Order: sequence, then structure tokens, then C-alpha cells
Amino acid sequence: MAKQVSPGVLALRKVVDDVYADAREAKKQGKLVGWSSSKFPCELAEAFDLNVMYPENQAAGIAAQRDGEIMCQAAEDLGFDNDICGYARISLAYAAGKRAARKIDWSKEDGYVINPATGKPLKDENGNVVLDENGKPKKDPKTQTPYIVLEDIHEIEALPEGREKERRLESIQPYKQMRIPQPDFVLCCNNICNCMTKWYENIARMCNIPLIMIDVPYNNTMDPNPENVTYIRAQFDNAIHQLEELTGKKFDEKKFEHACAQANRTAQNWLKVCNFLQYKPAPLSGFDLFNHMADVVTARGKKEAADAFDLLAEDLEKNIKEGTSTLPFPEQYRVMFEGIPCWPKLPNLFKPLKANGINVTAVVYAPAFGFVYNNMDEMVSAYCKAPNSVSIEKGVEWREGICRENKVDGVLVHYNRSCKPWSGYMAEMQRRFTADLGVPCAGFDGDQADPRNFNEAQYETRVQGLVEAMQIRAEKLEAQA
Ligand code: SF4
Repeated sequence: MAKQVSPGVLALRKVVDDVYADAREAKKQGKLVGWSSSKFPCELAEAFDLNVMYPENQAAGIAAQRDGEIMCQAAEDLGFDNDICGYARISLAYAAGKRAARKIDWSKEDGYVINPATGKPLKDENGNVVLDENGKPKKDPKTQTPYIVLEDIHEIEALPEGREKERRLESIQPYKQMRIPQPDFVLCCNNICNCMTKWYENIARMCNIPLIMIDVPYNNTMDPNPENVTYIRAQFDNAIHQLEELTGKKFDEKKFEHACAQANRTAQNWLKVCNFLQYKPAPLSGFDLFNHMADVVTARGKKEAADAFDLLAEDLEKNIKEGTSTLPFPEQYRVMFEGIPCWPKLPNLFKPLKANGINVTAVVYAPAFGFVYNNMDEMVSAYCKAPNSVSIEKGVEWREGICRENKVDGVLVHYNRSCKPWSGYMAEMQRRFTADLGVPCAGFDGDQADPRNFNEAQYETRVQGLVEAMQIRAEKLEAQA
């Protein structure tokens, strides 16, 4: 029987699909389409009715569709270093016109785009089916590698109209993240990290388009200091001025206020959903939050996103009343998952958790998008609080609060090769979690987008170690009770 999808989840999926479809349509109509970092104040672009795409969300989608490696490699072939964040590499390759595409079988008169999902046998250059050692047609529907090639959209667009152009356009991977329009401007806020600054400068240079930048200094203090808030506010004014020049429109205060109200509603509803993980057992799987993040990134300032999260909260309340959960197994242990998930390896991440009854009931990444504020200064302060821009003490306080409220038994830390600013301080954080909360921690190496940096055997061993440590702790607590 097909898995039932709740009304909230359906509504959330539609919101993201609409954001992508609207941007494609806007581009078709000759309107401006921008690309934005995920924590740029979206309220500004909303006030100008601009269509905006989010490369981090796009890269996560591409990675989850298992095209992260071919796109990362494409960026490396363009000269970008393998050490650069995988999201940046995917996005830079995309901005340069590179696309993951399906192979075309030209042996048929009109050409035929091979659908990797059907596992159609691979053919060699002579049109013969490639056989494996058992004499069976060689195919790898899981990794799909034999069927996925790299295309160049600029090269295709330069072709004369005809069957080659048609087929090659058709061969580009059909999912929405591989079909976003090229940008006309970029919006960058480095509250996330400074890789972002260089990434967006490069896009602006490659595509010869304007860059609107908001520089958020690192917070050494527990809360953003007033000088920083003044400095950032002045940049908001500057960004508004640049957007006026770009669009030829005057800044509409009313629209801005409306966008702020919607963004606050979305943030509050999103935080409400995140907080359902405090229930024991939880009415949802923590992995669900990762899936719903697309909405909070791409549609934070939209009424539809706020409404959809409201609906999702209703679904979860119903789960609590009925004693059900979206977690497909009984919850035995509760852990905090620290960091961004390995999108290309989500099933591999989930497998040993399921085998050991572990639910992820705390995440840092998801609630970090809950920007709630009442005025401009508070809005600026809210945008200063991203995981990589707060001091280590603030980061520890934040995480330990979530761990306590969400009653975790342990912490699983993703040492994410892509995200060096995040992973760098995790060893000290792990030490603090064990010292302050008494919970065991285990770390594993991986990557949010580049599957070459994940080792399943290492991950499984670390999860096993964490389970053993959680079990010993549980026995001790029981003996003391
Ligand atoms: S915060 Fe980490 S994952 Fe996000 S863009 Fe920066 S380096 Fe990449």
C-alpha cells in the first residue's frame, strides 16, 4: 500500500514546487530572477515582488537526487578546489552552465533519452548492449552513473533549432533543482559563513550580474553588540537602494511590513513544528524536519508557507492525540543530530538508526531558520544568529538547551567536510555535551553533498558505539533510580 501523505506535507511540497515553477515562468516572461543565500533577509526581495531561488536548497536537492558528485567534479574541472563546500561547488558548476543529464541513445533515428529509472541497458559506442560478467545487460539503477553525463546549457542553447537541440534539452535531469533559471542578480549574506561571500562573488563575476551583499560580523559576544546592529542596518538601507535601482521600483513599506509579518508567522509555525520533537515518544521522525526545510528556506516570507506549517502542526497534534508517529519504528533512543545531513546518503544514514530504534529528536540546523522579531533592530539581531556566526559559548548554550528540552540520550555529530566552520569547533562541543549533560557523543565523517566523503562502514560502527554507550548510561540511571 502506498504511504499516506498528510495534508500538511502535501501543502508544504506544493509551496516549494510553486516557488520553482513561478521562477521559471518569471524568467520566460523576461522578469528578473535572483539567487539568494538562505539566510539573506528574504523580506527585502519580497517587498519588491522579486522571484528568488536558493542555491543551498537547490544543491541539497541535487545531492539528494545523487547528482552531487558529477556537479562537484564539474566545478573541480573548472578549477574550483575540492576543499570548497559541496553546495558552493554544485552551485558554481550550475552557474557556469553545467547540468547533469541523461545519456542519449543516438542509434535511433531521432535519438532517445535513456531513462535511468527504467534501468535500460547501457550501450557502447557501437550500439551494442554492454554485458556484465554473467552475460546480463550492465546497469546500475541505484547509482545511475552509467546513464548520467555532464551537459552544458550554453552549448545547447547555441545549437540551431532541431532534433539535437531538442533531445539534449530533454536529457537534462527532469527534477526542478536541475532546471532553475540562470540568475539576473545575487543576494548574499555571510551570516552563514565566509565561503558564501566568495561563492557569490564568483557567480556575479561569471554571470556578469549585480551582487547585493550584507556583511554580518562574527559575534564574539553572547548577543549581537549594538555597533554591529547599526552597521548591518545601514547595509539594509543600502540593499534597498540597490534593489530600487535594479527593479526601477520604489521600496514599498507596506509590502515590506506584510513580508515581515508572513516571515514571522512562518518562523513561529516552523519552531512550533520543531518543538513537537520534545514529546516522548515524538510524533514525528527528526528526519522529517530535514525534508521540510526546503519550505523555510525558499518560502519564508510567503503566506502559503506559514499556512502549510500551520497545517503540518495540526497533523502532528493529531498524531499526539492518536499516539502515532511518522517514525516507522518504535522509539527506543533519542539523539541530537549535529550538522547538515549527508543528503546523497540519507537512506544509509537512516538504516542503522532504524535498526537500533534511534529517533533524531533534536537538530540544530532546522530551528536555526526560526527568525522571530518585532522591529527592525530585532530583525537584524535575528539574522545575526546563524550556527556559524555565534560564539562557541552561545553555540553550546543553544544546543544544550535543545538537548535538555528534547530529552536526548546521546549526540551524533556529523563532521562535514564541506562545512569547515561548523565542523571545526565540534570536538570542543562534544567534550562540553558530555561534561555538562552527561550524554555520550559519537562523531562520523561525511559530507552534505559530495558522496565521495562518506564511509558507510565507519558511520555504522560509530552509531553502534553510541548505542552501546547509551545503553550503559541507561542501565546506570536505572540502577540509581
Ligand atoms: S555554512 Fe557550511 S554548508 Fe553552508 S555554505 Fe557555508 S560552508 Fe557550505
